[in-house]
Amino acid sequence: MRVPRLAFLLLFLIRSLVGAVEKPFNFNETPGKLPKEVVPTEYAIRIVPNLDNFTFAGSETVKLNVRGPVHQLVLNGLELKIEAASVDGKELPVSAIKADNEKELLTLPLPSELAAGDHALTLGFTGKINQQGQGLFYMRYQEQGSGARKVMLGTQFEATDARRFFPCWDEPAFRARFQLAVVVPGNWLAVSNMPIESETLLNGRDGPPGRPRLDTSSGAPGGRALPPRKPMKEVRFAPTPPMSSYVNVFVAGELDFIQSQVGPTQIRVIATKGKAELGRYALDASAEILKYYNDYFGVPYPLPKLDQIALPGGFGGAMENWGGITYFESTLLFDPKNSSAETKQHIYEVLAHEMAHMWFGDLVTMAWWDNLWLNEGFASWMGSKCTVYFNPQWEVWLARELPRDPTRRTGIAKEAAMEGDARSTTHPIQQPVATEAEANSAFDDITYKKGQSFLRMLESFLGEDVFRDGIRRYIAAHKYSNTTTADLWNALSDASNKSVGEIAAGWTEQPGFPVVNVKREADGKVRQERFTVNFENAPPLLWQIPLTYSVVGGTPATLLMTDKTATLKNIPADRALKLNVNGAGNYRVEYDEPSWELLLKALPKLGVEDRVNLMSDAWALVQAARAPASLYFGLVEKLPDSTDLAEREQIINVLGFVNGLLVGSSERERFQRYARSLLRPTFATLGWEPKPNEPSNAGRLRASLISALGHLNDSEVLAGCRERFQKYLAHPASLPPDFRAPVLAVVGGYADEKTWNKLHELGLKTTSIEDQQNYYNALAGASDPKLVKKTLAIALTDELPTSRAIFLVSRVARDSDHPDIAWEFAKANMKALLAKVDAAGANRYAPSLFTFFSNGSRADEIKKYAEKTLAPASAPEVAKAVDEIQFRAGFRDRLVSQLPALIQSGAK
Ligand SMILES: [Zn+2]
Repeated sequence: MRVPRLAFLLLFLIRSLVGAVEKPFNFNETPGKLPKEVVPTEYAIRIVPNLDNFTFAGSETVKLNVRGPVHQLVLNGLELKIEAASVDGKELPVSAIKADNEKELLTLPLPSELAAGDHALTLGFTGKINQQGQGLFYMRYQEQGSGARKVMLGTQFEATDARRFFPCWDEPAFRARFQLAVVVPGNWLAVSNMPIESETLLNGRDGPPGRPRLDTSSGAPGGRALPPRKPMKEVRFAPTPPMSSYVNVFVAGELDFIQSQVGPTQIRVIATKGKAELGRYALDASAEILKYYNDYFGVPYPLPKLDQIALPGGFGGAMENWGGITYFESTLLFDPKNSSAETKQHIYEVLAHEMAHMWFGDLVTMAWWDNLWLNEGFASWMGSKCTVYFNPQWEVWLARELPRDPTRRTGIAKEAAMEGDARSTTHPIQQPVATEAEANSAFDDITYKKGQSFLRMLESFLGEDVFRDGIRRYIAAHKYSNTTTADLWNALSDASNKSVGEIAAGWTEQPGFPVVNVKREADGKVRQERFTVNFENAPPLLWQIPLTYSVVGGTPATLLMTDKTATLKNIPADRALKLNVNGAGNYRVEYDEPSWELLLKALPKLGVEDRVNLMSDAWALVQAARAPASLYFGLVEKLPDSTDLAEREQIINVLGFVNGLLVGSSERERFQRYARSLLRPTFATLGWEPKPNEPSNAGRLRASLISALGHLNDSEVLAGCRERFQKYLAHPASLPPDFRAPVLAVVGGYADEKTWNKLHELGLKTTSIEDQQNYYNALAGASDPKLVKKTLAIALTDELPTSRAIFLVSRVARDSDHPDIAWEFAKANMKALLAKVDAAGANRYAPSLFTFFSNGSRADEIKKYAEKTLAPASAPEVAKAVDEIQFRAGFRDRLVSQLPALIQSGAK
């Protein structure tokens, strides 16, 4: 076929607008700031921390492969002072070294040309130990048992903070071997990626034992005597295999561990003294997960050991350092007597996610941050798949279908990503990343959750075995190296004989996702368009959709929808038709009225996955103003009675969201009454007390209902919570772990000053991070303005680990009904609060506090505040906050106008 020249030109223009089709990994073409002529191959690093003033001294020798003659060396370094430098033993004048703090680069001009070949760079440097989880940081904590105040050290390097610890080629494609040596107190345990190679007691250089020291900083004449230094030791770790700089790790302190063995791999759970035994559950789960992954990936775990390390502060989540994964304590330690079932599940899911990274991320690493989803989307999908395999009763995939309710931790994955992806502020999974701030901003719902959803849809389209074979090919071909998305598609195409890259492009290279309209009169005709919320004139886009559908009761069928329209064959006019079987696809479905009526009649015959998917789509259509609120609530009222966890939690989350939206509205009380009437029958069936032989998820649903009804002002539930709280004060064991968070939260939400003080006192006393979180979360819910201010003030103290302290403010903003007071407080104390935020959160913190407002004027306020105060890198987050406020304001108006009629006509 002959194509006219103009069409060619147009095609070319469209291609370049969409972005060039990505190529497989090629080191020379990988983005980044560092020149590619000089490649480090081995680092030997020695670090001596100083705990008196939170600084450190370091030295390193880096073996370099110089690929062509150069006149300077360019590498990363930030907040490091270079004290000495030499190349091949020849000293360089330190004064000539340029440190560019903005670009985070060090430039070392060389006196003469450095020829191609092998060379060695040696540097001496000093740096600081941070309060927040960035580079090398310290944590203060209260020791279990003794209650003594202690300090320990940890590191957090992803995305771009290894350069705060040692000067390095800190871009993922610069893989090298790293050998670390550290000097720490003799009674400390030091942990890194690899096992300890040698340990030497020091006497002299870095801290002679027993010699009195003088502190001259006090200004007193002659200084005052300090206690003698403890003996120090030098710990040297074995060198790592070639890996990216950001997966290095160093943790040290007064630590304990428990261990086990899986084949050749030693697994340990490491925690502060007195807490290691709480790692038993994680240790057993790790062994199970490791065996599963060794098989799934086809390449066994490549390091001699795997440490799971619990940190009592510094950061909130977990980090997949190769061989030494770090976790915030409450995401790793499980106390069978005091931890809830929700905590147990959360620990498993995080473990499975982080351990998947040992292959996807560490063994095979994305070439550049524009492909971060290869790490995070994949680990999110793999982690859930593995969790489901061993724990089907948790209904993990189902829980991902639940809409966003910011007060709840679980069940927000797919829906949260879809809610964000429908807005004007979304972005493609793959997007260009030029700066460090952009790399840190890439860690968002789209990268993790949309990536996860797309992989799940793709797996179900290609088939589980074919998909796994593709992954095995990919790992085998790229181990100890880097990749782009194209490498993954090529491996999956080879395994499946399908053009995976073509199907995937619409999902990873363009923003948003489709809604599929079903028209029954037109005989099974379906049509796709972009699904948007609060986004007028969105550019239209087209997707290749792996559609699944079934006539209710029949066998599911698959169709790859490549055009705007398609026809589903053999659909009898009188039978209900359900698209997106089990909700495994990342698209919405909008049914015409005859189809919807047939589905409503068929509800009892649908599986819970399909019912929850219908509810999620119905609620999304209401949010998008494509349907009135009665579409959703009409469906809810027709649901068969059930105590199914996911189905009821879907309703709980929607009711919780609307309840939050209506703060200050005269409709709120009436809505709360209606909402209670929807939830009460299920709570009446379950009752307060566990029954023998009840379904495995009954306990969790009971806890969810207590919390939901409590927040909906249910007087019986409130009285029940108060009564149980009083008993708990006298006999803590009287309140089962699953009840603690909901009962404390309800009591806290309606607290008077006396109750607030009691909760605070308990929070100060406990050494359990989980209990501590429950108490402070309860404080954050208090709605009396005087108490709101008291809670906020805690964020400036060191009562809580830094990462928790800053989230206390967000928690108050969303749980107290007073986001205004939280914002005034944050504004007045922004500098002190930001000093506690890590790199990934820095651009988000201030804008995120605005997302709980439903008043349009706040949108202008955050814009003005950002212009004056925030770094330009915050702009995308500010745009999201503005969009969210506008969405909430519009949605609230719509609901307020529709609710009275809805509630009146409701059967309840
Ligand atoms: Zn991850």
